[in-house]
Amino acid sequence: MDAPSVNVGILTEKAVIFVFNEEYVHTETGDFLIGEQRALYVNGSIIFNGKLYRELFFEPTSPKASFDLKAVTIGLDYHWQRKEDQCFRGALNLVAGQDTIMAINQIDVEEYLISVISSEMSATASSEFLKAHAVISRSWLMAQMTKNLRLADKNHPPYQSTFLTDDELIRWSDREDHDMFDVCADDHCQRYQGITRASTPLVAEAVFATRGQILVDGNEICDARFSKCCGGMTEKFENVWEPVPHSYLTTIADSEETDFPDLTIEAEADRWIRTLPPAFCNTHDKEILSQVLNNYDQETTDFFRWQVTYSQAEIAELIRRKTEIEFGDILDFIPLKRGSSGRIEKLRIVGTRRSFTIGKELEIRRALSESHLYSSAFVVDKETDGIAVVPHRFVLTGAGWGHGVGLCQIGAAVMGAQGYSYDKILTHYYPSASIEKRY
Ligand SMILES: [Zn+2]
Ligand SMILES: [Zn+2]
Repeated sequence: MDAPSVNVGILTEKAVIFVFNEEYVHTETGDFLIGEQRALYVNGSIIFNGKLYRELFFEPTSPKASFDLKAVTIGLDYHWQRKEDQCFRGALNLVAGQDTIMAINQIDVEEYLISVISSEMSATASSEFLKAHAVISRSWLMAQMTKNLRLADKNHPPYQSTFLTDDELIRWSDREDHDMFDVCADDHCQRYQGITRASTPLVAEAVFATRGQILVDGNEICDARFSKCCGGMTEKFENVWEPVPHSYLTTIADSEETDFPDLTIEAEADRWIRTLPPAFCNTHDKEILSQVLNNYDQETTDFFRWQVTYSQAEIAELIRRKTEIEFGDILDFIPLKRGSSGRIEKLRIVGTRRSFTIGKELEIRRALSESHLYSSAFVVDKETDGIAVVPHRFVLTGAGWGHGVGLCQIGAAVMGAQGYSYDKILTHYYPSASIEKRY
């Protein structure tokens, strides 16, 4: 059975310049095309070779045929945002949108996976770890494609993820969905650059070895989330995003230990975060970290436990800027609710002028860091001079990197290096899920 195709949104521009490196056919006219082409957006239509279209579909005439898209923006909204020419296999679909042309690459799911996993993973990763990643990336993609079909249903209730009162802001940031295609090519979904960069042979092998395999939980395709480092315990889906439990995204200890504390209890979380419990992701092994952290400089290997220190002036200014709330001097941080991995879900910020509660974890990480705090699993030590009431320094001691839900990439890389098979790695992190071969 053939693999399904995925529609990946690559760019949106008034003018799209593209080059067919081999022969492509324009399906509507039957014209064969090769070389540089231009499409221009005018008044709701696309002008191509002197004619107006709502949509254009170009199919390759051979499986190895490729096309280039000129000046694709990569790293959208990141500090390294730039434009580059990119090369793709498969079909090119141009659609007239609100006021631009959307360029969409329709590609075989397996080819798409080789590209996205190659750009995410280093070439040194173990094959079992790469196979596990291939299965979760495929599951995530298929879940996304299924979800888009469901959301296209007009009877679907609107999705709400922000809850604001005078006293608190609880917000989570799940992926917003796309309506013209299945997934975008940016980090928002999974970074995809076609065949611009050579794929890693080990990744291609891992994708091929697991062809068609996805994670399912009953009839449901698993939305297989993952993050860099859980910190010793994984987090439940509902503590990070929409409060709807998923049995395969529950909490597990990232080790062979069966005895572990309840980290929703403050004293237990405090002890856990300040110590180094056994866990697969409790590693400083640079070789293993480099498998997960592609292009990472590895100057620091402190992800399992980390520390950040702020002066009163720094933290007060930072929080005022990030939350746009006048707290005055910061007096305290009170965790009102922790998730099962010790991540704070609701944090009370107490200032001399006012207090306010924020959540969930991403909101907290954004408010307390110039970019993002590694995680919201942290404890705070206040340092005060003599009899002063206002602390002059705050030390945050934390655990893990990322939201902590689902597979822990550093832990999974360690499991792979220790000889665990990919199916063992997957059932460790997604306990109620099983592997199913769909094609
Ligand atoms: Zn996206
Ligand atoms: Zn872990």
